[in-house]
Amino acid sequence: MSDVAAQPTEQEFDILILGAGSAGYATALRAVQLGFTVGLVEKSKVGGTCLHNGCIPTKALLHSAELADHARDSAKYGVNVELQGIDINAVNAYKDGIIAGKYKGLQGLIKSKKAITVIEGEGKLSSQNTVTVNGVVYTGKNIVLASGSYSKSLPGLEIGGRVITSDGALNLDYIPKSAIILGGGVIGCEFASVWKSFGVDVTIVEGLPSLVPNEDATIVKNLERAFKKRGIKYSTGTFFQGVEQNNDGVKVTLVDGTTFEAELLLVAVGRGPSTAGLGYEEAGVPMDRGFVLANERLHTGVGNIYAIGDIVPGLQLAHRGYQQGIFVAEEIAGLNPVIVEDVNIPKVTYCDPEIASVGLTQKAAEEKFGAENVQAQEYNLAGNGKSSILGTSGIVKMVRQKDGPIVGVHMIGARMGEQIGEAQLIVNWEAYPEDVAQLVHAHPTQNESLGETAMALAGKPLHG
Ligand SMILES: Cc1cc2nc3c(=O)[nH]c(=O)nc-3n(C[C@H](O)[C@H](O)[C@H](O)COP(=O)(O)OP(=O)(O)OC[C@H]3O[C@@H](n4cnc5c(N)ncnc54)[C@H](O)[C@@H]3O)c2cc1C
Repeated sequence: MSDVAAQPTEQEFDILILGAGSAGYATALRAVQLGFTVGLVEKSKVGGTCLHNGCIPTKALLHSAELADHARDSAKYGVNVELQGIDINAVNAYKDGIIAGKYKGLQGLIKSKKAITVIEGEGKLSSQNTVTVNGVVYTGKNIVLASGSYSKSLPGLEIGGRVITSDGALNLDYIPKSAIILGGGVIGCEFASVWKSFGVDVTIVEGLPSLVPNEDATIVKNLERAFKKRGIKYSTGTFFQGVEQNNDGVKVTLVDGTTFEAELLLVAVGRGPSTAGLGYEEAGVPMDRGFVLANERLHTGVGNIYAIGDIVPGLQLAHRGYQQGIFVAEEIAGLNPVIVEDVNIPKVTYCDPEIASVGLTQKAAEEKFGAENVQAQEYNLAGNGKSSILGTSGIVKMVRQKDGPIVGVHMIGARMGEQIGEAQLIVNWEAYPEDVAQLVHAHPTQNESLGETAMALAGKPLHG
C-alpha cells in the first residue's frame, strides 16, 4: 500500500500480533519461549474480553449467586443462615478485585518477557507484513490477527437505555426487579442463572426450539426442567420482533404478537468479529461476514498472516483462543503442532445446573456414523453419593461409536464443569469405555459418575 510504504518502519518483529486477548497474548507467551521477538498491539487492556468483560467477571457473579442460593438452602443442611440481601456494590467490588488481580498478574508476566514489546494503541493492518499504530509502521515477519469480538445485536435493535448487552449487565449498580434475556445460549443462560439467584424475575426469549440449542438433547431437556423448577421462565421457538422502552421498563414483542414486560432487556444473541475497518480486506485476507477465513493450520493463505480466536468462525471460547495462539507460535516455529477440531474442545455453561460437554452429541454421532453404529449411555446423578450430599441432580451421558471409542461426553449438574477435564481426555485420546471402566475413580466424588457411565457402556454397570 503505497501511502503506508512511504512511512518509516519503527521496529521489526518475528511475530507481530494485533490484539492482546486470550488468543493474542497466548501466541506472544509461547512465541518468546520459542526464541521469537514479539510485538503485541493492544488498544485497550491486555487480557481482552475474557478477563475484563467475559469469563472472569461472569464467573465471579455466578459464585456470588451460588452463595446466595446456599444461604437460602442452608437450613436443609442444618446450618441456620439468613440471606439478608444482595449488596450489589460489594458483589461488584469482589468481581472487580478478581479482575484487577488477574490483570496485574498478566501485565507482570508479559513485562517479564523481555522479547515481548507491548504496543499501546489501535492498530491497523497496513500491508501484508505491517501494522500501523498511531501513525507508526511496525513490521512483522509473521502477522497474527487476534482482534476478538463484540456483543452483537439484531438488525433494528438498538442498544441503549434499558436495552443492554453483557458489557452493561456486568457493570449494573442495581439489581433489577425483572429482566428479559434475548438469547438462550451460553451467555443468556449464565445471566439468567445469576439474576434469578439475586431475586430477579427472569424471562428468556429464544427463537430456536430450545435453550442451549447446541447441546445434546438429553442435556437440553434437563436444563429446561431445572430452570422451570428454579422459576426461570422461558419462551422458545418464536422469534423476537421488537422492543419499546420508556422510563419504567421495556416491552418486548415476539413475531406471534406475544409480549413480555420487564425493567431491562439483555441482548445476548452472540458475538460478532471485531474486524471492521482494520485493513484486513485491503490486504487481501479472505473474509466472510466479518469473520477471517483461515485454513485448519490457521493460515489465511495471504503472506505470513495467521488468524486466531473469536475472529475465526467456530466456538468463541477463551481456551480455544489460548490453544490457537500456542498452535500458531509453534506452527511458525515449524513444530507441526496437532490440530484440535472444534468439536473436541470442551465447553462449559456455568449456570446452575452447570452444563459441560465435549465431542459429538448423540444426534451428531448418529448422523456421522449411522444410528445403528452409535451407543449412548446415561447415568443419573441420583446414584452418585457426592452429588446427593451437594443436593444436586443431573445426568452424565456418554456416546460411543459401536464397539469403538467414546466420541462424546455430556453432563449436567452442580459443579459438573469440574469433570470436563477427564471427559476431554477421554474423547481426545479416543478412549474406549472398556479402558475407562477399568480405571479407578475416587469415592465419594462426582467424578465417579464418569467411571459409572463408562462401566455401564462397557456392559458392566456397578450401581446402575
Ligand atoms: C459475558 C461473556 C462470558 C464469557 N464466558 C466465557 C467462559 O466462561 N469461558 C470461555 O472460554 N469463554 C467465555 N467467553 C468468551 C471469551 O471471552 C472469548 O472467546 C475470548 O475472549 C476470545 O479471545 P480473543 O483473544 O479472540 O478476543 P478478545 O478477548 O476479544 O481480545 C481481542 C483484543 O484485541 C484488542 N483489539 C481489537 N481491535 C484492535 C485494534 N484495532 N488494535 C489494537 N487492539 C485491538 C481488543 O481490545 C481486545 O483486547 C465469554 C464472553 C463473554 C462476552
